[in-house]
Amino acid sequence: MRTELVRLVASGLLLVIQLPGLGFAAGLHPHHPSNTDNHHARPFSFLTKLRDSAVELLFGRHPTRNADQHIVPSSARAWYTNELVLRFNVTTSEEEIALAHAAARLFLDVWAFTDEFVDIRMHRDEVSPLLSLLPPSLRVAQSTMISDLASAVYDSMPFLHHEAVIRTDEALSASTSPFPEASGNLFFQDYQPLPVIVRWMRLLEAMFPSHVEYVSIGASFEEREISALRVGLPPNVDPTKPRKTIVVTGGLHAREWISTSTVNYVAWSFITSFGKERMITKLLQEFDMVFVPVLNPDGVEYSWQVDRLWRKSRQQTNLRYCRGLDLDHAFGYEWDGSQMQADPCSEGYGGEQPFQAVEAMQLASWARNETLNNNVKFVGLIDLHSYSQQILFPYAFSCQAMPPNLEKLEELAAGIAKAIRLADGESYSVMSACEGATARQDQSTSRIESGGGSAIDWFYHELGAHFSYQIKLRDTGTYGFLLPKEYIVPSGEEVFSAMKYYGDYLLGNNGIERFSEETASPGDQPESAAYDDVPLSQELKRRRLRR
Ligand SMILES: [Zn+2]
Repeated sequence: MRTELVRLVASGLLLVIQLPGLGFAAGLHPHHPSNTDNHHARPFSFLTKLRDSAVELLFGRHPTRNADQHIVPSSARAWYTNELVLRFNVTTSEEEIALAHAAARLFLDVWAFTDEFVDIRMHRDEVSPLLSLLPPSLRVAQSTMISDLASAVYDSMPFLHHEAVIRTDEALSASTSPFPEASGNLFFQDYQPLPVIVRWMRLLEAMFPSHVEYVSIGASFEEREISALRVGLPPNVDPTKPRKTIVVTGGLHAREWISTSTVNYVAWSFITSFGKERMITKLLQEFDMVFVPVLNPDGVEYSWQVDRLWRKSRQQTNLRYCRGLDLDHAFGYEWDGSQMQADPCSEGYGGEQPFQAVEAMQLASWARNETLNNNVKFVGLIDLHSYSQQILFPYAFSCQAMPPNLEKLEELAAGIAKAIRLADGESYSVMSACEGATARQDQSTSRIESGGGSAIDWFYHELGAHFSYQIKLRDTGTYGFLLPKEYIVPSGEEVFSAMKYYGDYLLGNNGIERFSEETASPGDQPESAAYDDVPLSQELKRRRLRR
């Protein structure tokens, strides 16, 4: 009986969660789902209602129009009128310094910073003032990446999705398999707003109660719940042993929608592969994975409803007209209120003190509590961002400080990059997060963006999560933050490949499954010699040669 229900639920899942009316009918709370809901007590009636809703949808009832709020076309255009994104090809540290100072002085929004280029968003009227502050070499080393930001935003908005245009053939093909492949999964055919994501997470918990649990990390500044899925199935061996845990986060920066969809895609892939793929089953027996698709729910909601390109949280600052803190400059390890980002109007503003940002504080408190009271040992934070295709390892705050397991961090990062390249040919660069945030040759003065107070540094240093990375996803600038929905599945697939490599490494297999052997336990002993005999991968060699 239950099998049939699950099959029906799976077939209707992706339809139901996109229709709020049915979500309510199934007893779900889209905005502030309380963690105290006793959902375990009513799975049967829950699934029955869900099944009935799905059947109605599949066989005739007309879907009602979605009432979710979102950007109306006219305001989407008006908001960004006459704005553009310029790319500067930077070759010297003098150029970096000049560009950093000029961008900070004009409060410009720096979209990406890499070894080779810096992308900056601005109004047309700001182009001349900016260029006048730059050395002549930089004035000619720039090109227009997005010439009409208003149109680019408009073109990228998921309008059709929210008019409940659901094709019958898609719905029926989804119904032919109990757990349809994620690539054919309606949920991943477009970006999803927060209420839909939360309903989807609740449904996953209901469908896979054996190894999926909906958990709350805490509440945001505007009191939205920060939702998470804990995925894992500890074998009943030794309950006193700390439970090794990997945290995967997205949506720290509101406009980086691909980070949220990718967390969801990877969660879905691990959940549905459990019991089918040997390595994943083994991984989820030894480790819990906690997926947090939207750490910054206020900012993400704002990016859906008002300003698609919003980055920070929505917390009030001491300047009335400049809201929001940058959650990746808000954590308490090596936090700095560096001059360039001391202004609340700055896109990198980290607050007046460490952990002033509510959402950063909530994640840290939750993690501390898990460590102290729930016998959890954090092994790694995988913090997804966009864009520029980089795998960044600690420390972000300084290139002078050496993380104790630097060589292993580099090696694993290189392996992750290779796993992605083998999966689909995409190239991700590997470097220290400090290089991703600063200019290399003169760190004291040429910062484009301070790296202090970063989430990966805090997890690495304060919790001993020694396999922590920030991964900047696709693309390398064609669309930037406005990555079209067609990239959701390919991005999800490549990060799933990366996470499988990562998990395999943590199991002590170094890319080769050796389940018969007693595996090392990197969470307990990150400096274990178990990894020392692995030759450096090609990526790492290339990286070292480049230095
Ligand atoms: Zn980001």
